[in-house]
Amino acid sequence: MSASVVIVGSLNMDMVSHSTRLPAPGETLVGHDFVMAPGGKGGNQAVAAARLGASVAFVSRVGTRQHGKALLQALRDEGIDTSGSTVDAAALPGIAVIMVASVGGENSIVYVPGSNAELSPADVQASRALLHAAKVVVAQLEVPMPAIAEAFALARAAGVTTVLNAAPALAVSDELLALSDWLVVNETEAEQMSGEPDPLAAAQALLKRGPKQVLVTLGAQGALLVTNEGSQTVAAAAVKAVDTVGAGDTFVGGLATGLAEGMSAIAAVRLGQSAAAIAVSRSGVQSAMPRRADLA
Ligand code: AMP
Repeated sequence: MSASVVIVGSLNMDMVSHSTRLPAPGETLVGHDFVMAPGGKGGNQAVAAARLGASVAFVSRVGTRQHGKALLQALRDEGIDTSGSTVDAAALPGIAVIMVASVGGENSIVYVPGSNAELSPADVQASRALLHAAKVVVAQLEVPMPAIAEAFALARAAGVTTVLNAAPALAVSDELLALSDWLVVNETEAEQMSGEPDPLAAAQALLKRGPKQVLVTLGAQGALLVTNEGSQTVAAAAVKAVDTVGAGDTFVGGLATGLAEGMSAIAAVRLGQSAAAIAVSRSGVQSAMPRRADLA
């Protein structure tokens, strides 16, 4: 069976410490918990979509020198098709060192890309059957942009919807934006990409660069959807935030799931918001992502 959602992205081992607050530079804090768990924006979004009921395939390059095999197995355990992932036995996988403040849920992250940085257009080409058969193809910026552009060009040629989650904030070419049906960014990324501090002004400026719609996530305030027809704010559910790491990834996974099911733009945004609201009310990243039945 072909997958309806194909994620082109990163796979990392996350090393997450929990302390009451984040340390200042040069400060050593005593924490109270530590978890090592599979992550990476690509892997997170794949798991979020799979938990919500989408059939998902994952296109990546995975170094298996350390934790890479466990990272691939974790995806398979979620029912995700990893046949489109190139295994590189000589390379390290990605690693993310994450600090979470238990009061307020803020986080800081150091990210070492490993094999994610080696994903090539040729790797993506090898998965073109998966890309052509998808309903939605999603990418984030933890893998090289030429590989993303290749994936989006193949998807677009087959009439497949493309979603670019421009995270982390990096300069993106107009060519890649023009290949993106959706551009999804948080407030910080929107400002860094456009130079506009106001999310609406930022989204309008980014829309002019080629995507068909721009979605700015606004944390507890929800999200702002901007198209050539106008703009609409979608409020988030009021929940007590425990750990907001991965909120954006859960949102994107939910958005992709809704779009693959043929939902309207707003309905797909609401599915992403509902899933993200549950995820922020639990600690952990992938472990906090809800199943479809949890949303009722
Ligand atoms: P962010 O990346 O922080 O903008 O969050 C992405 C999405 O997660 C938002 O658009 C919301 O749908 C959801 N979200 C994030 N933080 C919260 C929160 N404190 N309460 C409810 N939903 C949240």
